[in-house]
Amino acid sequence: MARRLDFRDHRRDLDANRYVYAVVSRRARGLSIGVNLNPDKVCNFGCPYCQVDRTTPGGPSRIELGAFASELGALLERASGELWATPPFDSIAPELRRVADVAFAGDGEPTTPPEFPAAARAARELRDRLAPGVPLRLLTNATLFHKQKVRAGLAEFDELWCKLDAGSEPYFQAVDGTRLRLRRILDNLLLVARERPIVIQAMLLTLDGRGPDDAEVAAWVERMSEIVAAGGRIDHVQVYTVARKPSDPRCGPLAPERLEAIAASARRAGLSAVVYA
Ligand code: SF4
Repeated sequence: MARRLDFRDHRRDLDANRYVYAVVSRRARGLSIGVNLNPDKVCNFGCPYCQVDRTTPGGPSRIELGAFASELGALLERASGELWATPPFDSIAPELRRVADVAFAGDGEPTTPPEFPAAARAARELRDRLAPGVPLRLLTNATLFHKQKVRAGLAEFDELWCKLDAGSEPYFQAVDGTRLRLRRILDNLLLVARERPIVIQAMLLTLDGRGPDDAEVAAWVERMSEIVAAGGRIDHVQVYTVARKPSDPRCGPLAPERLEAIAASARRAGLSAVVYA
């Protein structure tokens, strides 16, 4: 999955949670409730920019759905009142004291665990009951969209934020650290984008001091244009770069003006693009 764009706040009263955490998001203007279905820290990508600390061992792979649902339900219930009077949440600016979203964005690809569809259904039901109107989002690398079971889980979400960091096979494998084929990701994105609009998230960065060159950016834009030409819908493209120190020291941030130029390339192709510098 793609990492959240915002910082994670390890607050003590959520430390006992295994699956649910909270992030204050100025961009989303509120509290973003995060779901981590990958406590084992296993991912089918190995992005060099990944911020998951894999120097320490992860937890068990099996998801205890009852525990997950009770963590999420408890936090959503608290967020309807008492939470904002409790430290450290009482220090959040008044205008940010709202739940902005519930987002599956864990320490690996969230669609991987066999429990994903059931967890998505549980989250949807809890959101409907306790926080109606709050968007339920999935941040994903789209590698498993071709699986029926995963597609059933996708249906529970209001928004799908799908990673697409590259337009050529060699760059894809370098920047996402995988031997999976870019073609599979593109086919999967099209499969789902033909059914409903998707959001594309692109992490653009320097590797060994060099960012994606113009040919790579053109290929990336072309891949998205191909999705649209084949009947897929892309709601918008989010362009962002590394904000915190990644585990791989080869990675660095792209300059804001380069991010803007890349977003402009996407816009020239008719896509809506937003830069998060
Ligand atoms: S998809 Fe990449 S960034 Fe996300 S958890 Fe996996 S390795 Fe990390």
